[in-house]
Amino acid sequence: MKTCAFCNINKKRIIAEDDNFFVVKDIYPVTDLHTLIITKKHIQSFFDLDIKKQKLCIDVVNDQRKKLLLDDSTITGFNVGINIGKDAGQTVEHCHIHIIPRRKGDMNNPKGGVRGVIPGKQNYEMLDL
Ligand code: AMP
Ligand code: ZN
Repeated sequence: MKTCAFCNINKKRIIAEDDNFFVVKDIYPVTDLHTLIITKKHIQSFFDLDIKKQKLCIDVVNDQRKKLLLDDSTITGFNVGINIGKDAGQTVEHCHIHIIPRRKGDMNNPKGGVRGVIPGKQNYEMLDL
């Protein structure tokens, strides 16, 4: 079995945890303070969690959002995302949620946000429909 980056994470990287999840800063951050919420159990994706655990996971997202806003007053928005499956870009097959802090002016035209997962489709007003 391929070794899992999150099952083998250096415990020193963990900045918060509870019974079900731990939180680390992404090692290759998209923006400063890019944060990952990761299940303690090796579960493939968010949709493999039962509804109770999904809700608990969202509680951690909310807690981390609050913490990020307290820690960094330059944050003016967030992209929260989950890549599910290789075809959607998932590289570590162990359930995790990305919280990517955004700041005014961090890119030229942020319009459309997560639509940018397909290059060229981010800003729908620019599409020839
Ligand atoms: P995904 O492509 O959605 O599976 O995201 C995997 C994320 O994990 C990427 O953003 C990586 O930069 C990040 N990553 C990989 N290994 C580590 C690690 N050891 N510690 C923290 N983040 C990691
Ligand atoms: Zn794992």
